[in-house]
Amino acid sequence: NSLSISPTTAIQSPLQIFVRAKKRINDIYGEVEQYVNDSCKFLLVLPHDSDLITKEELLVVNSHVEKVKGIREVLLRDHMKVAFFGRTSNGKSTVINSMLRERILPSGIGHTTNCFIQVEKSENDESYLISEDSAERKNVKSVSQLAHSLCTGSLGDSALVRVYWPTDKCPLLRDDVVLVDSPGIDVSPNLDSWIDRHCLDADVFVLVANSESTLMLTEKNFFFKVSARLSKPNVFVLNNRWDASASEPEFLEEVRRQHLLRTVDFLVDELKVCGTRTEAEQRVFFVSAKEVLQARINEFKGLPMNTGIVTDGFHGRYFEFQDFERKFEECISKSAVRTKFDQHTKRGKAIVGDTRNVMEMLLERASAKRATKSQNRREVLDHLDFTEKQLQLVTVEMKDKICKMVEEVEHKVSKALND
Ligand code: GDP
Repeated sequence: NSLSISPTTAIQSPLQIFVRAKKRINDIYGEVEQYVNDSCKFLLVLPHDSDLITKEELLVVNSHVEKVKGIREVLLRDHMKVAFFGRTSNGKSTVINSMLRERILPSGIGHTTNCFIQVEKSENDESYLISEDSAERKNVKSVSQLAHSLCTGSLGDSALVRVYWPTDKCPLLRDDVVLVDSPGIDVSPNLDSWIDRHCLDADVFVLVANSESTLMLTEKNFFFKVSARLSKPNVFVLNNRWDASASEPEFLEEVRRQHLLRTVDFLVDELKVCGTRTEAEQRVFFVSAKEVLQARINEFKGLPMNTGIVTDGFHGRYFEFQDFERKFEECISKSAVRTKFDQHTKRGKAIVGDTRNVMEMLLERASAKRATKSQNRREVLDHLDFTEKQLQLVTVEMKDKICKMVEEVEHKVSKALND
């Protein structure tokens, strides 16, 4: 019968923390860009001999224009990255497919992943891949085509193939999550180069372990190397193939307790990535990726989720996988916001601060210049006032003199006439 398990997408996904933060920081950087560009344009049209701005100040603002442009490009491309590691055939590809709700990565015997495969969203509706050894876009319509393309390549185990996939069925891709599958850590001698090339910018690591055996030294050693390079990486441990336990129900609880104990010891005491045992317990899950993938494919086809042979405990394992996804989403989105946007926020503040300082200096100098000019104007006006008064005085004196002269002349003329 049909199960009524709501898919994780029905609830507001914690990934929205990152999605919203990304939108917000992109909007803010849009304003920063406008401000810096406007300031720069304004400074460039100032007269060259105006002594209002120094060459160095102009250079500062000019260099910020390029910087902001670069940061905006990075911000638009920023995503959350999760990398999956584990021994060959533990089920890494199957876990990734289950999370993507679709059989994208080839899995199973004969499809050993022998290079890094990064699945990310396709901006158009096409599925294609680009491998490191060529710039060519290879269209892939199906998993078998993808498997063929991956097999025919002659890439090294540290190489990366990017698979771009449409987002219609994969909410994780839509929300900017990028998933990276890796070759088995039991077969590669290139662990250091793996870490340098693929792990330093990962927000979350998922160790896909096999619940039929305990954690192996190779698995532990790899994570020791990772944690030596990254401070406190976010590590989740999936004990996959937990459906196998159903065949031995009498040992189920005991096996689970033992695995949990050892994995928590590993996370807290050995790897030191979790502060407490309770915290570490929230990072360990017992799942069956194969069952989840099948259930989701059924669900997509409109069939009951648990069509086919259902192993005991299916519901519990399915819920535990969903629980993993929720905790993983919360962890990756918070961690990505911190690591991806913290630096950009600080840089944005510094850029705005620098530009404001230059503009304030300019304003100060312009105000001082205006004050000096108005002082000069006042002095000239005073001088003109004085001259005007002097002129008035002179005019009055001259008038008197002329009157007197006229009187004298009149007097002299009338006397002459009389004579
Ligand atoms: P990878 O090499 O780690 O990527 O492993 P794959 O995902 O290719 O899986 C190897 C084989 O294990 C495939 O045949 C899968 O169908 C099978 N497998 C994966 N997950 C499970 C699981 O949870 N239970 C069982 N029984 N088989 C699984």
